[in-house]
Amino acid sequence: MDNQEKRPSPTPCEECQYFEYDDLADEEICTLSLDEDEYVAFLNRKSRGCPYFRSGREYDTVKKQNELPGLE
Ligand code: SF4
Repeated sequence: MDNQEKRPSPTPCEECQYFEYDDLADEEICTLSLDEDEYVAFLNRKSRGCPYFRSGREYDTVKKQNELPGLE
């Protein structure tokens, strides 16, 4: 057995494009905007998964990091 620390598997939210860092809250939050009807339907959904999940966050994070000034 090696000594490498295993990183826990990311949650679906951590891989979702709607999961972003919020300066005010100082944490990552879901930024998906739902109207009241959509929100009620979301809370009452039968499956555990999120129907709004959109993959590709990792790519966007890397892309934003590459756009930071001073990083070349
Ligand atoms: S849209 Fe769904 S999967 Fe994506 S961050 Fe929000 S709750 Fe998580």
